[in-house]
Amino acid sequence: MKKILQDLSYAELEALVLELGEKKFRAKQLYDGLMQGKTILGITSLSKAFKERLLEEYENEPVRIKETYQSSDGTEKYLFEYADGNLVEGVLMKYKYGYTQCVSTQVGCRMGCKFCASTLGGLIRNLTAGEILSQILVVNALHKAEVAGQGKEARAVTNVVLMGSGEPLDNYDEVLKFLRNVTAEGGVCISARNISLSTCGIVPKMYKLADEGIALNLTVSLHATDDESRARTMPVAKAYKISEILKACDYYFKKTGRRYYFEYTLIEGENCDEEHARALVQLLKGKPCHVNLIRLNEVKERDLKSTGDKDAYRFLGYLEKGGLSATLRRQIGVDIGGACGQLRASYLEETKRV
Ligand code: SAH
Repeated sequence: MKKILQDLSYAELEALVLELGEKKFRAKQLYDGLMQGKTILGITSLSKAFKERLLEEYENEPVRIKETYQSSDGTEKYLFEYADGNLVEGVLMKYKYGYTQCVSTQVGCRMGCKFCASTLGGLIRNLTAGEILSQILVVNALHKAEVAGQGKEARAVTNVVLMGSGEPLDNYDEVLKFLRNVTAEGGVCISARNISLSTCGIVPKMYKLADEGIALNLTVSLHATDDESRARTMPVAKAYKISEILKACDYYFKKTGRRYYFEYTLIEGENCDEEHARALVQLLKGKPCHVNLIRLNEVKERDLKSTGDKDAYRFLGYLEKGGLSATLRRQIGVDIGGACGQLRASYLEETKRV
């Protein structure tokens, strides 16, 4: 596979342009074009000779939207195809204040969580920083008409969540580079406050992230209140204890001043009785955190069942009564395979059948 220009920061791109014997202002034209989601060939302000020189080493189109699915609630889901044919998925959720895009950081995943479709075939490969960024660039380009007239810098995607396929902290260096590039001024320029990173709890990397000076929203997938139960659905629990995760979260708060979040997916017969709610309150009471309860998106390859609506609200009630800040996440895009990895898994299965 060729390299991709979207991996480069503005300074790196400028160095490349000069190295190739072009004038410095070409770097700005190139960067602006890329940040608008254009292919190399699609940037009209550059000479044909320069573009051909770039194409000797760099991919013209690192990612393209292979399929778009529309949910009845306005949510969109995409199947992205990379230059090597690998597929990942992404979701765009439309809110009044802007669009939130859920991005993937790996093709597949090696964490092995029992409820998750992304991990069914294991990890295929890491995505590079520019491949992650490109998911946003092409979605912005697709929706550019919606922000027309709002000024030159306006972008459709205002918020980003790293909650698609993959474990972001298992692809640390590329994810960090992505975070630096996506927050950089003059580019897509999404504020760290509008970015959430979700991890299954890779403790040493949580400390490392806290020290980077990027004040994003850190979210930990908890899904259980003791290590033994957690290990039943999340193999990573055998490596890192809940107590260690909580210490790392407190360190994150100390370093960034940002409260942190927990995701808790409600699985019937596993983690959503009153005793679990009590244990969760016990564990998190007084901490600067918020709990997001999620209804399980049932994955057909797995036999785990979602809790009913009534029980989900009852569980939320217990948490609130116990003094926790918590919400039950609105279920969106269920008709289009909302959960991580479901779309890719079903697409791969279908194409196998064909
Ligand atoms: N690897 C990261 C981010 C990707 S998953 C992590 O573990 O946090 C994003 C969130 O979706 C996690 O909380 C994950 O546990 C949850 N999730 C995965 N599959 C799900 C499913 N089928 N139903 C509900 N939530 C799911």
